[in-house]
Amino acid sequence: MRALQLNAPDQWTIGEVPEPRPAPGEVLIDVVGCGVCGTDLHTLAGGNPLVRLPAIPGHEFGGTVAAVGARVDWLNVGERVVVDPSISCDHCARCFEGRPNLCPDKGGYGSRYPGGFAQKTAVRATSCVKIPDEMPWEVALLAEPLSCVLHGIDRLGTATGEDAVVLGAGPIGLLTALVLRHVGTEVAVVERSDVRRAVADKLGFDTVVSSVGELARPDTAVVVDATGVPAAIEDGFNTLRRGGSMLLMGVAKQGSRVSLDPHRINWHELTIVGSTAVNSTFGRAVDLLARMGDQTEPLVTHSVPLEEFGQALDLVRSQGALKVLVRP
Ligand SMILES: [Zn+2]
Ligand SMILES: [Zn+2]
Repeated sequence: MRALQLNAPDQWTIGEVPEPRPAPGEVLIDVVGCGVCGTDLHTLAGGNPLVRLPAIPGHEFGGTVAAVGARVDWLNVGERVVVDPSISCDHCARCFEGRPNLCPDKGGYGSRYPGGFAQKTAVRATSCVKIPDEMPWEVALLAEPLSCVLHGIDRLGTATGEDAVVLGAGPIGLLTALVLRHVGTEVAVVERSDVRRAVADKLGFDTVVSSVGELARPDTAVVVDATGVPAAIEDGFNTLRRGGSMLLMGVAKQGSRVSLDPHRINWHELTIVGSTAVNSTFGRAVDLLARMGDQTEPLVTHSVPLEEFGQALDLVRSQGALKVLVRP
């Protein structure tokens, strides 16, 4: 079968690799598509410590079940599934306290184990979530980024009925904005790229601006950072109202620094939380896509064959695209 293989940092090839066979408890997936994520850029550059080379990256994938391993009696050949890529050790203190996304020994499909930039991949049946027959793949393949967003919103606590500013209109920022609007939050989107602001406009957000300074209201109940850029985080922090909350969901460069006034955190009882990856939110993401999937369609801007993976990377790097799907 054809697959993308990462042999060393920045050295990847597309070629023939042996087809995997499903072990007991696993199924073989005929991959229909796999989204390219910002973290794939880190992985390909050798910046993901979870990866064991040679690796097949890609963690936002789904497809049809092509073969079923022993002891799997609830999935059948031909069924359409999306895959929760997370795998953690199940026996450390963080796993036991119900926070497997913080497991120091985690490593899922597309990092430690072969992922979705391949024609076929074998995964645990328990990592698969069936999708409704009528759900288009362009919608279903957003389940992984949406499940990260839902975990972030869980961490934030209540945002329903409040007003929020979302910094960054990439796939994560726009999915966050859509979910917050869905629960009755008034959302403003801040994004520097014209292309991405145009998608935010198309999604019908009333306030779409290129900097925090252009916002009419200076006090915001909820700020979500989906950029990881220190200057944006500082601007977002400075717009919080008394009692406001801020969620840091963008992946910042390790070792970067922000300057925040601790007096405001104390005196105004501000809350700052972080969130990473997925925790118990994958199934909910599929349910939510079934309800609001048509709203997410403008998020998938490109779909390219596996053989043109380099083009997919250029699109993601240029920020002229939103979600790019690779079709193996
Ligand atoms: Zn991702
Ligand atoms: Zn663990």
